[in-house]
Amino acid sequence: MNAIEVKQLSKTFRIKVKEKGLKGSMNSIFHPKYKTIKAVDDISFQVEKGEILAFIGPNGAGKSTTIKMLTGILYPEQGDVSVMGISPIEKRKKLAYKIGTVFGQKEQLWTHLTPYDNFKFFGAIYDLKDKEIEDRIEELKDVFELEEFINTPVRNLSLGQRIRCEIVASLIHKPEILFMDEPTIGLDPVVKENIRELIKKMNKEYNTTIFLTSHDVGDIEKLCKRIIIVNHGKVVLDDSMEHLKYHYLNKKILEVKMKEYQDFKEVEGITILKSKANNLKLEVDTTKKTISDAIKLFDADNMIDINISNVPLEKIITEIYKEVKS
Ligand code: ATP
Repeated sequence: MNAIEVKQLSKTFRIKVKEKGLKGSMNSIFHPKYKTIKAVDDISFQVEKGEILAFIGPNGAGKSTTIKMLTGILYPEQGDVSVMGISPIEKRKKLAYKIGTVFGQKEQLWTHLTPYDNFKFFGAIYDLKDKEIEDRIEELKDVFELEEFINTPVRNLSLGQRIRCEIVASLIHKPEILFMDEPTIGLDPVVKENIRELIKKMNKEYNTTIFLTSHDVGDIEKLCKRIIIVNHGKVVLDDSMEHLKYHYLNKKILEVKMKEYQDFKEVEGITILKSKANNLKLEVDTTKKTISDAIKLFDADNMIDINISNVPLEKIITEIYKEVKS
């Protein structure tokens, strides 16, 4: 059984269009006009148990609407959804015991309570016995290193500490799937790394399936093996990260540092990205020119250093967004 099964899911919103000015306001009361927005348009995908999936797309692509239908907050207009074998529409309460949510931009914890009291509270909501809650807090306290601030009111915690506690609160009832929306937003690079490591650890330790939505390419790159890109409510790409990075664009970045300036001219398959003094940065389309042929275009005795890297994921994703828009 897959953790998530989505078949031909669609959702349309009908919204009132308001014309300008007072007359427009009056018109919208007495002769309202509506327009429809297809927020999710016939999407299908599966997520395996224990997978960390990046579900991304530009603003307004339909991500939140999809997540809301997966968690039973919104009714689909069409299609089938099954999360851990449960229909979110028919058995929303039963599903709540199996899933957890973390919203980087939205506090779920009570700020005047300590993390410890919050965890007790969340445990009680999920009908856990006192002993079960205590044991779970003890376990998660160690994994997420909360010892130092578990008894400090949440309002006095740093953002990074709070996010760690938000994640722990969402794990109290041992959910099998965690929906994470921008879990590292606003965090400094060191804390971001720390949170990503903890997410990986949690996935490994408890085999928690993670459905991650983030505009931060670092989150996607460091955590996910698979990526689904949605735009205008449709799935425009469903691929492994490996395949996406190494084969989607078939492009490599070649940086060459030379002893002396060499007048390098673009040839088919090679684009100059940057040329500064004796340093050149090229993009090689490996379907047209192999890396070794690209290197042969340089005088070997004149080369001090070469560096070959993949096209950054951020660039790949931006190109996919652009392609879809055009
Ligand atoms: P973001 O990255 O900005 O959060 P998103 O991918 O999560 O965007 P959604 O929030 O799912 O996008 O929105 C998809 C489309 O549906 C948008 O055009 C949005 O305006 C519209 N929409 C979402 N919720 C509603 C609603 N309750 N009523 C009307 N329209 C809505």
